[in-house]
Amino acid sequence: MMANRQAIGTEYLIIGNSAGAIGAAEALREVDRHGVLTMVSDEPYPAYCRPLLAKYLAGERTVDEMLFRPADFYAQNDITLLSGNRVKRLELDSRVAHLESGEQITWNKLLLATGGVPIVPKMGGVDKKGVFTFLTLEDAQAIASFARNAGRAVVVGGGLIGISVTEALTKLGIGVTIVEMKDRVLNTILDEEASSIAEENLRQAGVAVITNHTVSEISGQAFTEGVVLDSGEGIPCDLVVIAIGVLPRTELTLNTEIRVNRGIVVDLYMSTSYPGVYSCGDAAEAYDFVYAANRVTPIWLNAYIGGRIAGHNMAGIRTEYRGGTTMNALSYFGLDIAAAGAVTPSDETNCEVISRRQDGIYRKVVLRDDVVTGMVFVREIEKSGIVFGLMRDRTNVSSFKQGLLADDFGLAYFPEELRRERLRTPGSGVGSRSAALGEVERLVSGE
Ligand SMILES: Cc1cc2nc3c(=O)[nH]c(=O)nc-3n(C[C@H](O)[C@H](O)[C@H](O)COP(=O)(O)OP(=O)(O)OC[C@H]3O[C@@H](n4cnc5c(N)ncnc54)[C@H](O)[C@@H]3O)c2cc1C
Repeated sequence: MMANRQAIGTEYLIIGNSAGAIGAAEALREVDRHGVLTMVSDEPYPAYCRPLLAKYLAGERTVDEMLFRPADFYAQNDITLLSGNRVKRLELDSRVAHLESGEQITWNKLLLATGGVPIVPKMGGVDKKGVFTFLTLEDAQAIASFARNAGRAVVVGGGLIGISVTEALTKLGIGVTIVEMKDRVLNTILDEEASSIAEENLRQAGVAVITNHTVSEISGQAFTEGVVLDSGEGIPCDLVVIAIGVLPRTELTLNTEIRVNRGIVVDLYMSTSYPGVYSCGDAAEAYDFVYAANRVTPIWLNAYIGGRIAGHNMAGIRTEYRGGTTMNALSYFGLDIAAAGAVTPSDETNCEVISRRQDGIYRKVVLRDDVVTGMVFVREIEKSGIVFGLMRDRTNVSSFKQGLLADDFGLAYFPEELRRERLRTPGSGVGSRSAALGEVERLVSGE
């Protein structure tokens, strides 16, 4: 323990060391090569790609193959990384961060890139051996080691994290039952039709799916022996993964003047309500261009881009966030799905829905005032990136909306002026995939 040490002074302090934090560090260094930059993370690793955790658990990636940046990134960029070290308290007035190690750091500009914490319901038995969450590399390592002696697992929650851990466990030869409280899997990112295709695909892969129920208790002595559903039904298992969601990690804002709604509220410059303090990523509630409001959108790419905006602003270059939205490119059990924005219109009267389902392929776009506000592509998802690009750029698609779902949809469908503009703008989504969705997809597939 290093108590009562003299405070370390830093120009920039970043709490966190993942997508948002790295985005900020890179942007800071583009502007300010020499300002002292310190990052603190309670995880004992260099930054790694969280979306690849399932591949790590399945034995398809090593830690080195998951690194977000090369191991010498910190040295190359003159960054002091204090890893395996938690910031336990902030004093905003005097700009001091207190670390669990006893060290204190004073800052000039601060970024809270603290991500999320898994929701763990208060139910009997959650503290038994064999019960896990799936958020960190340490979680994946703990599950991997326990799974060697496990035969059956229950995954509580049929969302993106639940399904990704299900696929990994299945690859390890473990029989999995998913218990989902709502009436369908992936209900926060897909519409009913796509959820039913995803669910059918899970069943065909041998996964048992129970919807409209939840786990009320985990049974066993010291070790997990099963779960009891709210219906009273018991399901034997020796491993339970709780994947019912993630909440913004806002503990450092407790008793401060930083405004928190669901997440840490930031403006278009990723600035919090407290001067000199910024936030981004899963911890933050930033602008969502589909809803035209601040929302928590726990997406890797949004965290990275939001981090970059924060970094530029921290270094004094005023840069505006154009907003993000929910977007996912999933590939589980051989089924490709891309979805973004509001996939189920909340206001049927003002929205137009164009959809097509044929030979197992499903495509749908939701339009409001001829602007795409939501999309779902199942199986052939190659054209989803172009549609996402239109959605992100708020393009009026009135003259070619009937072509959005065509097999050969592409630039040829665009009006001439838009086509010329797209050809002039790199990364504007004219390729088979937009830069944005394509990057998420590459990350997930590990290409
Ligand atoms: C299993 C899984 C699969 C996913 N798949 C996808 C996907 O396919 N596509 C996609 O877009 N997104 C996916 N995500 C979500 C994506 O990983 C997150 O959106 C992204 O990691 C958010 O980045 P972040 O920088 O905001 O925070 P995080 O990645 O959560 O990192 C925050 C870091 O800050 C540290 N920290 C927090 N508080 C403190 C403190 N007080 N002191 C020190 N350190 C602290 C945390 O320990 C953590 O290391 C997935 C997430 C998981 C868990």
